[in-house]
Amino acid sequence: MNSIVTTPSLALIGFCYDANSSFLRGAADAPPLIRAALFSDAGNLWTESGIDLGVKDIFFDAGDISPESLDDVEDHVRSLMAKGLRPISLGGDHSITYPIIRAVARENASLSILHFDAHPDLYHDFRGNPHSHASPFARIMEEHLVQRLVQVGIRTMNGHQREQAKRFGVDVIEMKDLKPDLELEFTTPVYISIDIDGLDPAFAPGVSHREPGGLSTRQMIDLIHSIKAQVIGADIVEFNPKMDPTGMTASVCAKILKELAGLMLRVK
Ligand code: MN
Ligand code: MN
Repeated sequence: MNSIVTTPSLALIGFCYDANSSFLRGAADAPPLIRAALFSDAGNLWTESGIDLGVKDIFFDAGDISPESLDDVEDHVRSLMAKGLRPISLGGDHSITYPIIRAVARENASLSILHFDAHPDLYHDFRGNPHSHASPFARIMEEHLVQRLVQVGIRTMNGHQREQAKRFGVDVIEMKDLKPDLELEFTTPVYISIDIDGLDPAFAPGVSHREPGGLSTRQMIDLIHSIKAQVIGADIVEFNPKMDPTGMTASVCAKILKELAGLMLRVK
């Protein structure tokens, strides 16, 4: 049995925010739809690893918030962490990851990020916006908020971003180089940031920037299950319900959310 929990150690929070999207808005509408898919009677709340997320108080639900700014996002995450909770954040566009990491890094001097995405999100700025959803990892690396950034699923590298990756020492595992036996090893606690467009759009069509040739849902889940390090926070971002006519992507986000929570609650 590994499902005995008396006080919550995880917090679920939704950020309805897409002001830094560059192409299509809509990600702000995602959090309530991911929750609806998670709690839908179509499935159950057990993780594949055997944890029942339906147990009362297994996580604290901080609700869905419409932040005014990125500073607002940081403040919300900081107040959850001050209560000893590890945040799982639902986006929103990927710009929220920078303020989240600022809050998480304040409590964790030593930290690595595992980042799933089709895009490296390392632009110095995108069309003049340094807080674009295409730039959060440039900000994070410039401020030396983490020791290591590992990116998986990347398939849109251009010259500028390749230079940025080199300059910041990012460990980029491009989709074209992904081996089935990839083992991710970390020597620090890990934060996991999941841009749902890291998946192939055949599995998760509800994204603003569909980029074919990505991970299968199964590959992503297996990689999540394989992580041995302590996971101190996570986010799922860039689900755009306007691009998700069948609701499939909401279900995929809920599934990934369950497996992330299972990983974070795992008893070693
Ligand atoms: Mn992306
Ligand atoms: Mn992204």
